[in-house]
Amino acid sequence: FAITMDQLQLYEDLGKGNYGTVKKVLHKPTNVAMAMKEIRLELDQAKLNAIIMELDILHRAVAPEIVEFYGAFFIESCVYYCMEYMDAGSMDKLQTYGSDNPLLPSDSSPPDGEPAPFLRKRTGGVPEVVLARVVGSMTRGLGFLKDELQIIHRDVKPTNVLVNRRGQVKLCDFGVSGQLEKSLAKTNIGCQSYMAPERIRSESLHTSPTYTVSSDVWSLGLSTIEMALGHYPYPPETYSNVFAQLTAIVHGDPPELPDGFSDAAKDWVSRCMVKRAEDRASYQELLKHPFLQQDRTRTVDMVGWVARALENRDRMHKEKEDQNGSS
Ligand code: ADP
Repeated sequence: FAITMDQLQLYEDLGKGNYGTVKKVLHKPTNVAMAMKEIRLELDQAKLNAIIMELDILHRAVAPEIVEFYGAFFIESCVYYCMEYMDAGSMDKLQTYGSDNPLLPSDSSPPDGEPAPFLRKRTGGVPEVVLARVVGSMTRGLGFLKDELQIIHRDVKPTNVLVNRRGQVKLCDFGVSGQLEKSLAKTNIGCQSYMAPERIRSESLHTSPTYTVSSDVWSLGLSTIEMALGHYPYPPETYSNVFAQLTAIVHGDPPELPDGFSDAAKDWVSRCMVKRAEDRASYQELLKHPFLQQDRTRTVDMVGWVARALENRDRMHKEKEDQNGSS
């Protein structure tokens, strides 16, 4: 069946991406809650039609680690894309609130001149057992896209890893439509790069893109470190400036997992963060690695972890509001 706008009841915004907003909607005929992404494109009807047709392949992307696609349509120059609603949001936000480090007590007033507790730099991030579960899902999802659909994701980063309160972890936003990629490319100027060194090199030299599946493996490794730290891995002085950042990725040593993680975890990440694309691990190797094998035999309370991360988020938002209200 095809989804149309008049079947949808619109709810709140779930987030803003580089290309448009994502809204929660209810598909009235089926009573299914969905997330609807609006992508504004200045394209003619023929090109918009091509995009809708190319997106159709997504109906075949059915796997436990992939956000389900329900359908797409366009109105005027906007493409609307309906997908499974993931009620815990994306890992880029959860990683900040999902640390096992106890939060500072909210009622202790900070010493003079110090920022309020919720503004203090937190060293947290995702604990190792949760991290293994999350990146295991990501690796299986990426392997599925490659083996079953011959799709390279091209945009692996914590924002594109969605989670629900049942503890499921799924990938979204992968590149299936050549026309859509082409139309979006011009506006793609993210300030935190997850691009592999070979991709940065070929883009800066304007040579034909040397994008292979192993470029996604680099982005997977970088996302893993980011989730472990709770923030983007390259130091702030580097990521405040696009040129410095790209230089560091191409010429500097690759980032590593911090102390406190097991040797297996560190080794797994280092197999992703190999600067020579040809020497990087394959998905198969990554799945067989002890870091992900251990995960298979362990019980991890993902439901509890997600619930606590969301509670922390709500509490910190409330503290921030109270602080703003009282000052
Ligand atoms: P970007 O363009 O940066 O990849 P998106 O436009 O895909 O970002 O998404 C923006 C935000 O919307 C995400 O960070 C996430 O919090 C939220 N979001 C996206 N898709 C969904 C979904 N299916 N369910 C719930 N929230 C979502």
